[in-house]
Amino acid sequence: MIDSIISRLVVGGMLAAGLAAFAVALVVRLAPLLGLRREVRWDRPAERLRALLRFGLGQRRLVDPEERVAGLLHVVIFAAFLVLALRTITLFGMGLTGDLAFHLPGLGAGSPAGQGYARLQEAVVWAALLASLGFLWRRLVTRPDRLTRSFEGTLVLGFIAGLMVTELIFEASPPDPATGGSALGLAALLAHLALILLFLNFLPHGKHFHVLTGLPAVFFARLPPRARLAKLDLEAEEARFGAATVKDLSWKEGWDVYSCTECGRCQTHCPTYLTGKPLSHKEVNRALRRHLAEVGPTLVELARAADPAAREAIAARLPPLAEIVPPETSWSCTTCGWCETACPVFIENVPRLVDLRRQAVLVDATFPDEAARIFKGIETQGNPWGIGSNRRTEWCEDLAIPRAADGGDYEWLFFVGCAGAFDDRQKKVSRAIVRILREAGVSFAILGDEETCTGDAARRLGNEYLFQTQASALVETLNGRGVKKILVQCPHCLNTLANELPDFGGRYEVVHHAELIARLVADGRLRPGAAEGLAGAAVTYHDPCYLARWNGVVEPPRAALGAVGVHPVEMARSGRQGFCCGAGGGRMWLEEKLGSRVNQARVAEAAETLGPAGGVVATACPFCLTMVKDGIAETGREESLRALDVAEIVALGLPRREAP
Ligand code: SF4
Ligand code: SF4
Repeated sequence: MIDSIISRLVVGGMLAAGLAAFAVALVVRLAPLLGLRREVRWDRPAERLRALLRFGLGQRRLVDPEERVAGLLHVVIFAAFLVLALRTITLFGMGLTGDLAFHLPGLGAGSPAGQGYARLQEAVVWAALLASLGFLWRRLVTRPDRLTRSFEGTLVLGFIAGLMVTELIFEASPPDPATGGSALGLAALLAHLALILLFLNFLPHGKHFHVLTGLPAVFFARLPPRARLAKLDLEAEEARFGAATVKDLSWKEGWDVYSCTECGRCQTHCPTYLTGKPLSHKEVNRALRRHLAEVGPTLVELARAADPAAREAIAARLPPLAEIVPPETSWSCTTCGWCETACPVFIENVPRLVDLRRQAVLVDATFPDEAARIFKGIETQGNPWGIGSNRRTEWCEDLAIPRAADGGDYEWLFFVGCAGAFDDRQKKVSRAIVRILREAGVSFAILGDEETCTGDAARRLGNEYLFQTQASALVETLNGRGVKKILVQCPHCLNTLANELPDFGGRYEVVHHAELIARLVADGRLRPGAAEGLAGAAVTYHDPCYLARWNGVVEPPRAALGAVGVHPVEMARSGRQGFCCGAGGGRMWLEEKLGSRVNQARVAEAAETLGPAGGVVATACPFCLTMVKDGIAETGREESLRALDVAEIVALGLPRREAP
């Protein structure tokens, strides 16, 4: 026993002061979030719990194949903190009771559980100490690019190492029943408890707040389908048209900026960051975190004010969000999703950037001229090119494809899409799909002149109003024709039809042509031979972001290619970890004025994969096909590379061949 009165006074005082200071710090950091937009993030609790177990406690995204060691070190420290939580309670128990033999129920030194825990505890303490030294080495010596160098990071590692060392010293100086404990052991115990409280109080003040906010951020993350953008209620009395100031971000978006670990995983394969545009998901979080600290008192005032006029006056004091996240940042994003799927704490980047675009388009009218042309094309002709809507079926005039409006029976509604109907290159893909469907005996129809743009590009360029008009019209047409199953050739159409139209009353089974081809082959309904002209050719496959990353379609395109004897050589970045072509998020139609061109970077990667003899870059998206084709031409590789859609390659294996 140590003197229990002194012990209670010292440890109790430390604990009370430490917890009180911590509570104040928490209130200061979190209260501003009450001034942000409300949003329900606790629906589907079972799914959220599963995500928390898998990605939060399971740390699935941390053991990243590119930096496996850093991921493992993080997992070790995380696991150590979980295991040592019980030990921390025990140590405070010792201090508060003055009884160095204090233990939690069931964990006494003589019990098997207590002995097992003691062994585990010793192992994790050593592991965490070594891991923190490993991190120090990485931070001070190897210094990977994606890391933000800061004194704070080094200090936190010092805290962790200090906690482990004091624990080890305390363990090595067992209590003496006669004197109550060695002076060194008692000093180590007090130092350990003081360090815990200091560390706890340090956390809310910097980026290491993520230690506390990270797990809730995973629990409250938006659930699949994650590529779905939230529908704005444009008719509401207090309608929100985007993000004018920080108050228009949701509390979860505010929580996210506290949760950013600044690990930089989001930028390692961000197409815009890597090609020199002023956009880094990490830097956006850093800027917003500073901003939240600056305007925190105003947001608290806003949260307290009930009177609408007072709220308006307070909100007017907030600077435009576009001053914090400048337009060249928000307009650079291709919405490819890399950053979001790489982020270990599920921080959401795309919705807030789209909200900034919505503000620019719907309220401020400050958007690129090219976007205005796209909006006009969709508005007047139902396609982004603005080509006369009466020309939508020119691509298939000689094919006698039934129309849904004819009322005949068909299994699939082939939603051709604007590119498939109006873009000369993509029309060839549309025709290849028709050949495949006919070869497999699939019954299908098209909407023909009734088809119109899904509005995907308009939505991601911020024109929510135009998107909603398109979506409502489309749902009316599809439901009016009794459509249940839709075949698409464009991953962007897939995403809108499958994930976003349910918000407008449209629920359909939507498949991409690569998926259907793979299914037809698997069912034995399609038996193509080897692709003519591709024998021995090297082929690589470029995964469209909206197909692979956002919608999980990775294997079917490869299976479809395999059916005609084509086995792609994988690029270093493929599947869900693919690299964007640069066209998503409506960027297909915007000038790329900053940095180098994303499509050229991707083509260079394909060329390197295929080797000096070149070959074929296969893909499964009209935008990717255009970007890759243009990238090949722009980099003077037309002699060695060509871009083909998966459907065109499969069609090369059909009996009645037609050169793409
Ligand atoms: S946003 Fe996510 S991936 Fe990017 S630095 Fe922050 S925690 Fe890391
Ligand atoms: S969505 Fe893609 S382009 Fe946009 S910031 Fe994330 S990684 Fe970069």
